[in-house]
Amino acid sequence: MENICYFRPKWVGSPVTNNEKTTPKVNERRGKNSKKKGEVDPVEVYCRVRPLDNPNDSCCVKPLSTTVVQLIPPENSLAVARNGQIKEYQFTFQYIFDEYTSQKAVFDYVACPLVDDLIKGKNGLLFTYGITSSGKTYTMTGTPKDQGILPRCLDVLFNSISGVQAKKYVFKSDKMNGFEVQSEADAMIERQKRDIIPGITTPKTPTANRRGNFGDQERISDPTILTSVDDDNQYAVFVSYIEIYNNYVYDLLEELPYDPITGYKPPQTKILRTDSSDCMYVMNCVEVEITSPEEAFEVLFKGQKRRKVAHTALNAESSRSHSIFNIRLVQAPLDPRGEEVLQDPDKICVSQLSLVDLAGSERTHRTKNAGDRLKEAGNINQSLMALRNCIEILRENQKNNSNKMVPYRDSKLTHLFKNYFDGEGKVRMVVCVNPKGEEFDETIHVMKFAELSQEVLIARQQQVRFDIGLTPGRRKINQNYKDKFKSEEDLCTPAKVPAFDFTLGPGFPPFELLRSTDDIVLPELEKFLEERQKRREILQLELDKQNDEFRAHLVEIDRNYEQALFQNDELQQRVEKSEAYVQKLESRIRSLERRLGENSRQTKQSERQKRELEAMIQDKEVKIRQEKSEKERLKNDFKARLDMNNQHWERNLEKERQKIEQDYGGQIWERQQKLNMLRNIVNETDSDSCTPMPAPRETFRTPAPKSRTQTTPAKILSARSENDMRKIGTTPTPRTRTVTTGATLSAARANLRPTTKSTSTSKTPKPTPPFNPRHRRSRSSNAEIWLDHRPPGSVELDTVLQPKIKKKKSVSKLEVKDTKEVSKYMLTHQDMDSEDNLTTQIYKGDCLPTAGGGTAVVFNDVETLKQTSPGSRKRRSSCPQPQDYEGDWTDVEDRCNIAIEGHGNAMKRSKPNGATRV
Ligand code: ADP
Ligand code: MG
Repeated sequence: MENICYFRPKWVGSPVTNNEKTTPKVNERRGKNSKKKGEVDPVEVYCRVRPLDNPNDSCCVKPLSTTVVQLIPPENSLAVARNGQIKEYQFTFQYIFDEYTSQKAVFDYVACPLVDDLIKGKNGLLFTYGITSSGKTYTMTGTPKDQGILPRCLDVLFNSISGVQAKKYVFKSDKMNGFEVQSEADAMIERQKRDIIPGITTPKTPTANRRGNFGDQERISDPTILTSVDDDNQYAVFVSYIEIYNNYVYDLLEELPYDPITGYKPPQTKILRTDSSDCMYVMNCVEVEITSPEEAFEVLFKGQKRRKVAHTALNAESSRSHSIFNIRLVQAPLDPRGEEVLQDPDKICVSQLSLVDLAGSERTHRTKNAGDRLKEAGNINQSLMALRNCIEILRENQKNNSNKMVPYRDSKLTHLFKNYFDGEGKVRMVVCVNPKGEEFDETIHVMKFAELSQEVLIARQQQVRFDIGLTPGRRKINQNYKDKFKSEEDLCTPAKVPAFDFTLGPGFPPFELLRSTDDIVLPELEKFLEERQKRREILQLELDKQNDEFRAHLVEIDRNYEQALFQNDELQQRVEKSEAYVQKLESRIRSLERRLGENSRQTKQSERQKRELEAMIQDKEVKIRQEKSEKERLKNDFKARLDMNNQHWERNLEKERQKIEQDYGGQIWERQQKLNMLRNIVNETDSDSCTPMPAPRETFRTPAPKSRTQTTPAKILSARSENDMRKIGTTPTPRTRTVTTGATLSAARANLRPTTKSTSTSKTPKPTPPFNPRHRRSRSSNAEIWLDHRPPGSVELDTVLQPKIKKKKSVSKLEVKDTKEVSKYMLTHQDMDSEDNLTTQIYKGDCLPTAGGGTAVVFNDVETLKQTSPGSRKRRSSCPQPQDYEGDWTDVEDRCNIAIEGHGNAMKRSKPNGATRV
């Protein structure tokens, strides 16, 4: 008799995962807060609707989606009878399997992940819950052709661990609800003792069952293989099968005492115990190690058979009991050589999957039982009620953050599974539903409880670490080595010696010795015996020879073996060396990677800094350029203003001077007259002849002081030139004016003198053409040379538009000689208006040589350039102004400014000067 352990911690006492610390101590008062900190999972509830036995029956269940199912009460149900209304109920579950869902689909969705967890060292609990005949047993066990969850779990588990299974009895119960590991040699001895030596072993079950079939029927096994198996572990599977009936625990694998007279005696009840890790287990319960699904089915059938016998003995009914099939997977890592399981009890990991087929959940009055049966039904309900109570209180504790005691001890069922609810594994429930209308009143209770159960949260089990620091893949390495060694051994084996006939030859011939002196028989016998003796000697020789050969072969094998061992050691050393080298390289790679990361981080940082500095330099350069251009502009502005001021003042001075000259001109002239008169008087007194004053001079110098038509000599000359021009047929344009320059002045004077003389002598002066148009320089010669006359103080224009002049000669003061070689003349005249705007006029004319040898300038064009400050030009604009603009802008610059800057909401007005730059 062995103990079975429920809720065993992972890696029992393992220093790697330190499970002693992570495994929570049982605390029935544990509420939400007292649970292990970390992730939690809800109790996962799935719903399976079985098909109707009779398709014509009324149906009260309708799956609406994969997660929602609807319950519609039939008209004769209690719910309708109570309030007369047909109220539909909807329930949400993790997944709804409808009547067409296959056994395989249910297993894959619900149980397969639990098997995967089992291999990974985690626990799982799976219930089937529902009323009688709702399909609980069908879902859990199924049929041979369509297996349920339990056989599929076994199939998948063995499919997955095949090849990494430990030999039987390597793992052994320690009778303390734990396991210990023993060497393969010890395990072999135990195997021989228990299974091979006749008499010790228990009688075998019939062959049909040994094949693992359901009775006589062949079963179809599940082919799924899970890949979560660790190749460097050894696995062993242990199963136990118990039943809880009337709140008593029975072991279904226990041999029932048989009395030849009274038959089988009722089974003994078992008690629940807590082990050193506070895990619940059934004391003295048989736990069988199985090495294949077939063996597992053997155990299952044995249990089911005993269950029937026990029920007969107990006068019980199977649907009233809870059956629990328990699979425990024990795993431990291989030793460093990958040969055997590591002989360290601390490294053993035990995980468990409990598959529970609960009793029917219908209420007592419905069972119509009496006496013992009523008591039995009541107890069933008591167990399920206890389960319900526990789940409700757990939910309440978690919801309200309270710490109410969970009544696990109220029933054996809840007491046994308390560790699961305290966070020792995943809990799943398949609610089986019979959609028959008659079952509505019971089904509704089942559904309500099941839906409620989902609200209970269970702390997630810690991940189990199987890596204990040994070389991974050591099993494979060892296997490869063995294969190699085997092939070498085969090579060492000498060629097979042809079989030698070791028989002594034909048997004794049928001699019949009648007397001791039989001459015929005795010699024949003697001959036969001699031959036989010879044959024996030959055989002896052959035997000795073969013995020698065998010995030699043994010695050879021994030598080979030693060599192999030596090679093995060498290989081991080389492997260790390589491993050390690999580790060294890995650490070097890690350090290099670290340095690389550091370097790339630094590079990135310097690049960022460089970019920032470049941006700063660009900003500064832009600022410097702006400052420079601003400075230049201010300088030009200032210069222009200074020049204009100078000119203004010069003009004012000139005006003042002219005014003074006008004011005092008469007086001077009078004095001059008086002086002349005095001189004449003096001269008259000196000589008798009277010489009249030259008329032109007189004419020239006797302007009426107050005459409005007072002309300057230039003007007179100009008038004369115009007359001359008219006379020679030149028709000046209305704009054309002719002025005489200093050069023409002297020439004109020369011309004027005779004219004046003739005027004084005869009253009809004969005008002389001042120049000969034929002397004009040819334009086609392209030899136009301009005389650019800019009086001193002229302001530099700095205009973009510049006169197109190829050759020019610039003067600030006009000399006669300057006019000799030029054909064009331009005079720059600048003026300032009241708003300080500069107006530049360029008087242009042709230079024509005069007959007298001078040069006359015929003005024929005036170019006027007016430069104004943009800010001073105010003109009402027709452009629509922005609504939020409050200023008084009208000019082009302002509009331009706004056009450029007004694309954003923040509209700004720059200074008028700034606008000029725009
Ligand atoms: P329970 O264990 O809940 O009392 P069973 O599993 O014994 O109910 O099912 C009662 C009957 O219904 C069985 O004959 C079973 O074959 C059948 N049955 C239950 N569920 C299904 C299903 N999903 N598909 C087909 N037959 C089913
Ligand atoms: Mg059943």
